[in-house]
Amino acid sequence: MRRPVFAGNWKMNLTVDEGLALVDGIHKGTAHLAEGVEIIVAPTAVALYPTAVALKDSHVAVSAQNCHWVAKGAYTGELSPAQLQAAGCTHVIIGHSERRSLFGETDEGVSRKARSLHDQGLIPIICVGESLSERESEETLEVVTRQLDAALAALSGAEIKRTIVAYEPVWAIGTGRTASPAQAQAVHEAIRKMISDRFGDEVGAEVRILYGGSVKPDNIAGLMAQADIDGGLIGGASLTADSFNQIAGYQEGSS
Ligand code: PEP
Repeated sequence: MRRPVFAGNWKMNLTVDEGLALVDGIHKGTAHLAEGVEIIVAPTAVALYPTAVALKDSHVAVSAQNCHWVAKGAYTGELSPAQLQAAGCTHVIIGHSERRSLFGETDEGVSRKARSLHDQGLIPIICVGESLSERESEETLEVVTRQLDAALAALSGAEIKRTIVAYEPVWAIGTGRTASPAQAQAVHEAIRKMISDRFGDEVGAEVRILYGGSVKPDNIAGLMAQADIDGGLIGGASLTADSFNQIAGYQEGSS
């Protein structure tokens, strides 16, 4: 049984104080859901440590939005998995489409980061997804498979079971245009099959695959009703406790 995960990616939004107010609202508003779902927040780098302190021993985990793969050294502006772990992070988002398209993140870099995060005992949230032109030219599965093959290449089956995959069609991120539940399910099913084929059925059955791309309180239930969608990576709608908590509590809304 895969436990649903809801992760809020705050991107480059909110000051430290604004972020602390938001996590207070998320912490209080999702406490009653903690047995059934996993909650993760991904603040900006400056807010990671105070957020982790505020959430210590709580049901809300803290994720970074990026990392370097090297442990330490002359890499101005970067953060290592060891530093992130010492700051209280348990997860790190890697391969986000904004990192890929705006900051030159490559499949090889994502692979190195995934390896390094597991070496440090952190959980990668690996993002994959096709652009609009790739979808229109029916290359979705080819692109996603290439990205995922690279990202998982250096990991063992046991590590992949702990890894979280996020399918985020680039055309749906921040656009208000969500993949339909059927469109998302088709890709999630293909991702799970690909993982099962390469790493065994047990790994495929256990790995959690999140959907990301304009997830909102009013579309989450339809997405979560799909067999291979195990939660959401949420951008815009994670910036208020009200909408994020409604998404995490999707079962209450539909009952
Ligand atoms: C994201 O950036 O990961 C994302 C899914 O953003 P949004 O929910 O705003 O589309």
